[in-house]
Amino acid sequence: MEKDNALLELSTLPQFSKLKQDTFCLVMDSLLSSAREQIGRALENNSDDIWGDIIDPVQQVINRVHRAWGQISHINGVVNSSVVREAYNVLAPKVTSFFAEISQNAELFESLKDLRNSESFDTLNLEQRKFVDNQIRDFRLGGAELSDENQDRLRVISENLSKLSSSFNDNVLDATDKYFLQILDNERLDGIPPGVVNAAKSAAQARGLPGWCFTLHAPSWIPFMQSCKDRPLREQMYRAFVTRASEFGDDLFDNTENMKEILLNRSEKARLLGFDNFADFSLQTKMVTDAQEVRDFLKSMIDAAKPVAQYEVQVVSEFAKAELNIDSLKPWDLSFAIDRLKERSFSFSDEEVRRYLPLSKVKQGLFRLVHDLYNVDIQKLSGDVWHSDVEIYQVSNDRDEVVGYFYVDLFSRPGKRPGAWMDDAISRWRGGSHEQLPVAYLVCNFPEPGVGEIDSFLSHDEVQTFFHEMGHVLHHVLTKVDVMGVSGINGVEWDAVELPSQFMENFCWDWGVIQKISCDPVTGDSMPRSLFDKLLKAKNFMSGIQTLRQLEFSLFDLEIHSKCEGSLDVQRTLADVRRQTSVIAAPEYNRFAHSFSHIFGGGYAAGYYSYKWAEVLSADAFEAFQEEPEKNPELGKRFLREILSMGGARSALENFIAFRKRPPKIDALLRQSGLAGFQAMQ
Ligand SMILES: [Zn+2]
Repeated sequence: MEKDNALLELSTLPQFSKLKQDTFCLVMDSLLSSAREQIGRALENNSDDIWGDIIDPVQQVINRVHRAWGQISHINGVVNSSVVREAYNVLAPKVTSFFAEISQNAELFESLKDLRNSESFDTLNLEQRKFVDNQIRDFRLGGAELSDENQDRLRVISENLSKLSSSFNDNVLDATDKYFLQILDNERLDGIPPGVVNAAKSAAQARGLPGWCFTLHAPSWIPFMQSCKDRPLREQMYRAFVTRASEFGDDLFDNTENMKEILLNRSEKARLLGFDNFADFSLQTKMVTDAQEVRDFLKSMIDAAKPVAQYEVQVVSEFAKAELNIDSLKPWDLSFAIDRLKERSFSFSDEEVRRYLPLSKVKQGLFRLVHDLYNVDIQKLSGDVWHSDVEIYQVSNDRDEVVGYFYVDLFSRPGKRPGAWMDDAISRWRGGSHEQLPVAYLVCNFPEPGVGEIDSFLSHDEVQTFFHEMGHVLHHVLTKVDVMGVSGINGVEWDAVELPSQFMENFCWDWGVIQKISCDPVTGDSMPRSLFDKLLKAKNFMSGIQTLRQLEFSLFDLEIHSKCEGSLDVQRTLADVRRQTSVIAAPEYNRFAHSFSHIFGGGYAAGYYSYKWAEVLSADAFEAFQEEPEKNPELGKRFLREILSMGGARSALENFIAFRKRPPKIDALLRQSGLAGFQAMQ
């Protein structure tokens, strides 16, 4: 039966139409058990050729499981059905424990160390050596060298943490879901856009209530805070939002104890593994060297952004006093006042921009840009896909050799997970008996063409999303690395993985590129320069305040994870950070940390800074292209050679230095976000 199933075929591209969803569980169960047997057999090998007789066969097994499981989780995300969902939910824990077993396999760890200490290590190439070093590092960080007793303790801590994190997230979600602000008097709706008011009407009806109900979910809360003219109502909503899941709300959803326990468990885990604190542990797999480097980076960004933010607050305060009758600007006035000022300063709407950005033109322009930068060809293929909207593209290099493929699935539809993402379907792996080219999925949720239209139109934000995901695709597909664990996006440090994607986004702010991807539906001309200039100005509007906010989150995350058991005081740490970052005092009741899911409920602990860090890298790399536009083909080649094609085979810092001929600097980002030279402007 296994042989009949397309799920297990190692063909160049997956064969979606041949997948039999009702046998996913059976096929995966038998695949996992044969995978365990094969790994066991490989490890019994007492051969001296550890790479050839142990590592390679184990990689072979991992590849098969990864490819089969990758298809199931992809289908589950893009064409969900009850059959797939059920199979996915049954299989997900089994696959997770399969990979957990490998990462804790003591014999495999011993083999890797034997190889590392043998003479044959020197005969391996750079990619293979990096792979072995990464594996040994990960085994160590997973506790492979601890005593049995400490390993047991580490397991308990991991279980605690996974329960605590999901309880943290549940509390945030439940507290968010439970709250609503009911308005009965329609005069108090003044200023709120009709679409948001209608949604609030439906929300009230769904609760069997009269009037309008506004909630703390983003599509309701954000426009409410931006537009509601009723100041006491804004304050009420603000308070509800910033006290979510705290001691000021329902006791059932209070995250205070969860946070304390999460931090204590993380701290203990780090110390068991030989680190002073959790930040030191977390940074082991990141591009930065240590916590001090992150602290210094955040401080210099704060120094640059704070005076700009202070100036912006002053401008908004004066405007609010003169035009909005607000004497002293409070946190619940900020979005509202900024939005009024924005309306006054920039007279254009997203919809006005959208009509100049037809998807077909954007796609064509993007592929052309990729061709001009990296000298690669992108050609459409016909083939087996999971939905009629999906397209397959083949990528060839300057010698006409096919180097990889990617799928593009752009429109939103029922049964498709929201958002945009890139996922690897197949990783490049060549050598010995195997050869497979990289394959990526690029998935977005853009609006479909309207009735009677053949094209769909994108907002500038959506164009950026497309460019961003294309950057990830290129990183994965243009790799030249032959060792699977470090080819494409594999093995790239967490805080550097967004470099190629954000780098591509920068081109959406380049007039030359905008001219190539835009077109007036009537005249065929590109977007008018005056409209682009407005777009550009709006981009950096209030960027000091926005940047400072991100820096506050990043610094709080770093500091709270740099503390030891005795000094873990969330509110106090937050207050210390705010003394450095705040430009409008947060009220005493503000409990922002209680709903900071990225770090307490997700994978960003001591890593939130990565957002800004990747922006620094991408802005700095992009500026090289702006400095000498005539040298772009040469620079593109270098970016391809030193960054995109290197994958995780070399450290991200070495990659960056090889491209930029120096370590990254924050100056380019400051310039691009309008934060540079502020003092001089004054
Ligand atoms: Zn990304």
